[in-house]
Amino acid sequence: MKVYKFGGASVKNADGVRNLRSIVSDEENLFVIVSAMGKTTNALERVFAGVQKGDLAFSNAEIEALRASHAAIIDDLYHEPHRIEAVDALFDELEKLVADIKYRDEDAELWYDAIVSYGELVSTRIISDYLNHSGLPNKWIDMRRCIVTQQRHKDASVDLEASTPLLRAEVNGAREKVFIGQGFIGGAPDGTTTTLGREGSDYSAAVAAYILDAESMAVWKDVDGVLNADPKIFPDAQHIAELSYLDAIELAYSGAQIIHPKTIKPLQNKNIPLYVRPFGDKRKPGTVIRGISARVDIPILILKRDQVLINVRPRDFSFVLEERLAEIFSLLARYRIKSHLVNNSAVNLSLCVDNSWHISEAMKALRADGFDVMHIEGMELLTIRGYTTELFDRYALGRDVYLRQATQSTLRIVRKGK
Ligand code: ASP
Ligand code: MG
Repeated sequence: MKVYKFGGASVKNADGVRNLRSIVSDEENLFVIVSAMGKTTNALERVFAGVQKGDLAFSNAEIEALRASHAAIIDDLYHEPHRIEAVDALFDELEKLVADIKYRDEDAELWYDAIVSYGELVSTRIISDYLNHSGLPNKWIDMRRCIVTQQRHKDASVDLEASTPLLRAEVNGAREKVFIGQGFIGGAPDGTTTTLGREGSDYSAAVAAYILDAESMAVWKDVDGVLNADPKIFPDAQHIAELSYLDAIELAYSGAQIIHPKTIKPLQNKNIPLYVRPFGDKRKPGTVIRGISARVDIPILILKRDQVLINVRPRDFSFVLEERLAEIFSLLARYRIKSHLVNNSAVNLSLCVDNSWHISEAMKALRADGFDVMHIEGMELLTIRGYTTELFDRYALGRDVYLRQATQSTLRIVRKGK
């Protein structure tokens, strides 16, 4: 068994779906994980925002636009007007769900997941139907029933042990040799739908690969493989042919947009190689990520935007590291705030964290616990692995740099965003 994952950009229109078909048709024994088409998840986040604001008309307009854009892709695929009952049913269900929600802020994450999961449900229905119609029999899998996650919404981790028998039961003994499942979504022990965090479909694919003991996993993307930097930000980006799991996990964690950070662990645990392959040209080799690989001998630059720099200081001047650290971090964890960089002096702790819904609540709670707290929004975290003195001088100096941390191999800079 192989596992292939197709992201939203690769199935954003009918040509993308046809291209997926041509890639998939070369294989037997294949589990295909698909994301929502194009920018569907962003649109569903707006549907949720409408629910949050109590603006049902706004949510409905977004749903209607999604219904229309998916219908257009379906018509284009079949070269004539075509209805897929399962897709119509999903949009009806979503509309009803949104109309019936009695929204409370405590349930924000629960309703978020209930709504945004429709993107993947719809895309997989369309793709499964199209492949069936065009001579590629396949089985549509409802991942909400097979991928058991922890009881946590919007950013859940998968319970591999609980999921294993469920997913295997769907695959083993099936007549079909090709399976189509949703990325990004799962089900909590209480039966509600969960999601794995934005861009989480890579992680779903890795989980499927782990459970099914896949020989390999491939992520089909609209780039030539892994580059040492984002070419939109650093124009002289170069291609990397191979990477170790260790390098890949560090890169993903620092914010490189190659793969979701949680993807590597399940693959590493079963030594399954991960191929990052260009969707536009299946002859190109892309990048392979595996246990043993050649050393990367060029610097790697990763920029994480929309960061917040937080400064915390105990008002009573207790030593922050010795006496207060556990307290600060458990409070931040409670508000789901993830730190990417931590720096301390005697009585001061600086953190670079992702901007999120709960920052101001967390700061209020810290103040109530006896800390002085300051924060600056609109920051960027630049990580350079394998930096040179030239790169140090170029990026680590200058007035927009608020904080820098250097080890022998890695330089991290918090700077004002552009
Ligand atoms: N559709 C989801 C997102 O856009 C998951 C994914 O693409 O991996 O975040
Ligand atoms: Mg996506």
